[in-house]
Amino acid sequence: MLTLRTKPLFEEREIADRINELAEQIIDDLGTDTPFMAAGLLRGCYVFMADLVRAISKRGGSFKEIDFLVCSSYGDGTESSRAIKVHRDLQADIKGQTVLLIDDIIDTGNTLKLVKDLLRSRDPALIRTITLLDKPERREVELESDYSCFSIPNLFVVGYGLDYAQQYRELPYITVMDEI
Ligand code: 5GP
Ligand code: MG
Repeated sequence: MLTLRTKPLFEEREIADRINELAEQIIDDLGTDTPFMAAGLLRGCYVFMADLVRAISKRGGSFKEIDFLVCSSYGDGTESSRAIKVHRDLQADIKGQTVLLIDDIIDTGNTLKLVKDLLRSRDPALIRTITLLDKPERREVELESDYSCFSIPNLFVVGYGLDYAQQYRELPYITVMDEI
């Protein structure tokens, strides 16, 4: 049976503080002269992305466009055989743009790597990957998220945009789902 831990792994306040820090760091690194192109991976990104773009805006950053992709990665699990299916592509032209690629979590890294490679083929000036969470222990490909709020051990988490069978995305905090 699956149960949600009653004590959150990250409280609402903690997440907000960390997003502000991350926005600060992004602005320090990338500056405010060039408007960003935000590319979010639905559906998991949507809560995090909404807070992040506003935190960036409060620090003087701006966006040329805020856009989304829906995709899934498939294959037998080996790095060379994995491929990406794009269900909904960006509408924005990212050529020459500074792209912030935003996802909820980097786990094996397959999704983010495939999407990053896809976007890179469109000739942006720069791509930076940003994830709310990072599970470094689970990585199958050589890719680190450029910016991440929290690094976590190998646990299954829900809330703040992350789901289990499409449920729990609306939780304002992040909590662990245990199998008992
Ligand atoms: P990756 O390709 O990095 O293995 O997969 C990343 C995707 O797997 C995330 O975008 C997310 O949808 C899903 N995922 C990985 N770990 C978790 C987790 O702990 N909780 C939830 N809800 N989704 C996860
Ligand atoms: Mg996802």
